[in-house]
Order: sequence, then C-alpha cells, then structure tokens
Amino acid sequence: MAKGLASGCINHPGIEAVGRCKQCGKPYCGTCQIIGPTGKFCSDQCKSNHEVFTQRAQQLDTMKKSSSIGAKLFILAKKLIVFSVAALIIAVVLAFMGVNVPIISEMLNR
Ligand SMILES: [Zn+2]
Ligand SMILES: [Zn+2]
Repeated sequence: MAKGLASGCINHPGIEAVGRCKQCGKPYCGTCQIIGPTGKFCSDQCKSNHEVFTQRAQQLDTMKKSSSIGAKLFILAKKLIVFSVAALIIAVVLAFMGVNVPIISEMLNR
C-alpha cells in the first residue's frame, strides 16, 4: 500500500489510488485521474469546479490589488505622523538644550 493513500480509487475500490483529487480530496486511480490546467482531479466535474474556484480566487486577487492603493496611502499617512512626532521630539530636545527653536520657545513662554 502506498504511503498516505489508505484507500483505493473511488470508482474502482480494488485498485490502489495514485493520488487525491485537488477539488474534493477523494482518491483516484491512474485510469480515473483527469489532468487539468489547475491540477489533477477525480472527475470532469471536479476539474471544472476547481477551474471556477481558481478564477474566482484570481478575481478576488485583482480586487485586493486595486484596493491596495488605499493601503499605500494609509502607510504613507502613518509614516508622516511618525515623522512629525519625531521632528517635534527633536525640536523639544533642542529647545531644552538651549537651542532657539521658534515654535517651541513660543510654547514654553506661554
Ligand atoms: Zn474530485
Ligand atoms: Zn479508478
């Protein structure tokens, strides 16, 4: 018996399975296996089901890519916030060191 394949083909119980369907996970023998563009399957039905599934996954992928512009802007905004906070901290430190930073001096004199 082959490793990992405890059962025989779903259509031919006496024949040892050569692999498992990528769509439904059922074991198939060399006669039953159908090789499609997206993998190996137990039946034509599973092959076309998986093709539809793959197409949907690709569609979702393109949707994700188009929405990633928003994500990039978000990252940019976060970087800007981090940068301005860092600039403020540097300005405060400089002011405490006696360096005249106009905005900070105004804040401290209030
Ligand atoms: Zn199948
Ligand atoms: Zn078979």
